[in-house]
Amino acid sequence: MTVEDSLRAIVGESHLLVDPDLRAPYETDWTRRFTGTARCVVRPSSTAEVAAVVRACAAAGVPMVVQGGNTGLVGGGVPTGSEVLVSLTRLADLDPVDVLESQVTVGAGVTLEKLQAHARAAGLDFGVDLAARSAATVGGLVATNAGGIRVLRYGSMRAQLTGLEAVLADGTVVRRLTGLAKDNTGYDLVQLLAGSEGTLGIVTRVRVRLVPRLPARSVALVGLAGTEEALAVLTRARARLTTLAAAEVCYADGVALVRDYAKLPAPFRADFPAYLLLECAAGADPTDELLALLGDSDEVGDATVASDPAGRTRLWAYREAHTEAISAAGVPVKLDVSVPLGELPGLVAELPSTVEKIAPGARTLLFGHLNEGNLHVNILDGGPHAADLTDAVLHLVAAHRGSISSEHGVGRAKARWLALSRSAEEIATMCRIKAALDPTGILNPGVLLTAGK
Ligand SMILES: Cc1cc2nc3c(=O)[nH]c(=O)nc-3n(C[C@H](O)[C@H](O)[C@H](O)COP(=O)(O)OP(=O)(O)OC[C@H]3O[C@@H](n4cnc5c(N)ncnc54)[C@H](O)[C@@H]3O)c2cc1C
Repeated sequence: MTVEDSLRAIVGESHLLVDPDLRAPYETDWTRRFTGTARCVVRPSSTAEVAAVVRACAAAGVPMVVQGGNTGLVGGGVPTGSEVLVSLTRLADLDPVDVLESQVTVGAGVTLEKLQAHARAAGLDFGVDLAARSAATVGGLVATNAGGIRVLRYGSMRAQLTGLEAVLADGTVVRRLTGLAKDNTGYDLVQLLAGSEGTLGIVTRVRVRLVPRLPARSVALVGLAGTEEALAVLTRARARLTTLAAAEVCYADGVALVRDYAKLPAPFRADFPAYLLLECAAGADPTDELLALLGDSDEVGDATVASDPAGRTRLWAYREAHTEAISAAGVPVKLDVSVPLGELPGLVAELPSTVEKIAPGARTLLFGHLNEGNLHVNILDGGPHAADLTDAVLHLVAAHRGSISSEHGVGRAKARWLALSRSAEEIATMCRIKAALDPTGILNPGVLLTAGK
């Protein structure tokens, strides 16, 4: 009996995909940069089926690659050749919202958009938001400790987690879904699995805290001379605006690309080197305090503010459409990094020349979540030099005391460079945890930790 026979018996004929055409959408990532061949794709629909799938693969010694919405940007959910690809999208149950605790338990395959809608229908909201919301799954968000545009207000995915259920590499199911606010009873396995990128276990159910629904929102798009000016306005906004919910930065060349792609008009009469998007959210309209802040900020070159839903969406598009516009222009070398805020202007200034030295003519497009010192570095027309570009950019980030992965994770794309952000002792400890939970290395081999380390 082959492993495919065992898997077919667990999930049924129609949820074991062996035909290359049926496997194809799972085998290439959102960016089209990472692609590989899976032995087969298996689509379990319950925790029991996931556990049975894992036991069957473990018994046959066949490695697995774990996948949610396949929107990850570091190749962590893409197969390399011989793995069984375990897709979690059918784990899509939504429990009723627990209004008393302001929490909800959902299946790992629920998309971020569905979780948000579910919370909103109960008069609450979910604290994480990002542009891939229609496809990214809760399991993927946990596995990557996703960040996004609301970290400034609510923290990243780790901060939303109150419980989790996962299947370990031997098929054991660990479950902690009580969601107690205070519970100091030993190692925090929930937080250990968060950010582990599918290397320690397969997340099957997740319990998250919900936040108040803030119906009144106001968005400002601000034109500025550069990153230093954006940081000055942000510092003032953080000190003065209790309603501040998001602070995003982008630059002239990225906005020009987005305008071309999304057919958007110029936001201002003049172009600016840098753009800052601020969003305030509250129970009552926060526009006045946002306007007062902009009025008191000499750095502001020009600004436009919207509080109606259509106007807010229009202003967000200048920032949120960056990933799609870049992807439409080619397959970029995509890096996501963070540095201390004081280092950000220096990094922004040095990146284009660092890239130019390695890949003359390549285009460097930058945008990010300003408050976290995050920059998404996208290099178009640099593909043949991808490894050298990655090496140079990540070394530059390390020289600025930064992290080689701000929020997308390490995946396969950056596993070689982990030592730039973590000490030898930290990596050795991570390897010991991996060896304890997955001694034969069958869960996401080559992701986060390179083989043999
Ligand atoms: C347009 C766009 C915008 C984005 N913006 C942001 C952003 O602002 N902030 C941000 O942090 N990310 C962002 N991302 C990246 C991506 O959306 C996140 O990393 C997201 O968390 C991935 O979820 P997914 O379900 O698609 O996971 P996948 O891509 O399927 O997998 C990602 C990783 O998680 C593992 N994994 C997936 N599901 C599970 C599970 N159930 N159990 C264990 N491991 C699992 C995979 O093996 C892989 O290593 C963006 C992506 C796109 C395309």
